[in-house]
Amino acid sequence: MPFALETETSLNLDHAGICAWLKETDPAALERLWAEADQVRAAHVGDAVHLRGLIEASSHCIQNCLYCGLRAPSEGLDRYRMDVGEILACALEARRLGYGSVVIQAGEDPGLTRDHIASAVRIIKQHTPLAVTLSLGERCDEDLRAWREAGADRYLLRFETSDPVLYRRIHPGLPGVASDRLAQLERMRAMGYEIGTGVMVGIPGQTWDILAADILRFRDFDMDMIGVGPFLPSPRTPLGRPEAAALRATPGDQVPNDELTTLKVVALTRLVCPDANIPSTTALATLDRAHGRELALLRGANVIMPNVTPVEYRARYEIYPGKACIHETANACQGCLQGRIQALGRRMGKGPGGRQKADSEMSGSSDLHH
Ligand code: SAM
Ligand code: SF4
Repeated sequence: MPFALETETSLNLDHAGICAWLKETDPAALERLWAEADQVRAAHVGDAVHLRGLIEASSHCIQNCLYCGLRAPSEGLDRYRMDVGEILACALEARRLGYGSVVIQAGEDPGLTRDHIASAVRIIKQHTPLAVTLSLGERCDEDLRAWREAGADRYLLRFETSDPVLYRRIHPGLPGVASDRLAQLERMRAMGYEIGTGVMVGIPGQTWDILAADILRFRDFDMDMIGVGPFLPSPRTPLGRPEAAALRATPGDQVPNDELTTLKVVALTRLVCPDANIPSTTALATLDRAHGRELALLRGANVIMPNVTPVEYRARYEIYPGKACIHETANACQGCLQGRIQALGRRMGKGPGGRQKADSEMSGSSDLHH
């Protein structure tokens, strides 16, 4: 095995080193980055690719994020909210397709009440062995505790950027309410959730320095799951309109929202967080439908989140336009992904696929050493 579990990489991964890798353009140097990320992935999380069925439970949102098509002021969206039975039906579909977990994601929707989500989690746990991840935005501790008690295992909440000025600009929050996603992540960890976070790559105003700091923050906060995808402009949003050009950093400083930069972030994230679960995101697959999913899996990723939302709801969950796989049935998605995973010489993960810390008892799936 080329890597002892303690010795991750010979690359320089301090702040300056990460900045340099993010800007690297020499193909030979990048081959080295890809190879090291892939080797660290293989050594720490193995060849399994864990599939998490994504349930887009509601497109209602009270927030005003400048980047997201679901934001409250977005007009012309035909918004929906699933009832508990519909959420359970999606989970049963994920189970039937052999997935080990589901992610219930939604806009920040007070209509998804504490009881609504607690009932959904409880009934999924009664009927399936699935791990349940929630991704419902910023919620009060009482909600989060109730959902944990109902059986929720994990929570995803991207901090979006580690730069407080940029964060306030792109995520104004609700009037009179301070938004501190990192603090919520820490509280959720204390409640016993596995916690996941992430950022978008190439949001207007994001500099190389800020992105390098984001990657180091993943490491410093010892995140269990880390999702990074390109920022994809939505014309429904302020950051998707031509005026957003004024918010961009100077040309040498602005991070592009392209595939290569996103793949570098995936690879560097794997190197600084060797045993985290890292998805190959739908946003990346949207940028490069032919190869995006595979390239991320070859450069550090070990998770995919296929959509199990009924097709009639998917187009109505429009974070950005042109989302990949939006018309595929869950069956078709499963077949397509299985083929792509096998073509890479990898295999579908079994079981819930929780984080397996190198220094602790194995938890969740035990197929690392198959
Ligand atoms: N409302 C929850 C929240 O904000 O955490 C979960 C749903 S939200 C749509 C999930 C993620 O989508 C966000 O954390 C953000 O990073 C990503 N996202 C939103 N708008 C995007 C865009 N225009 N391009 C790429 N990703 C985007
Ligand atoms: Fe709402 Fe989440 Fe979109 Fe922000 S990113 S507008 S909280 S759905």
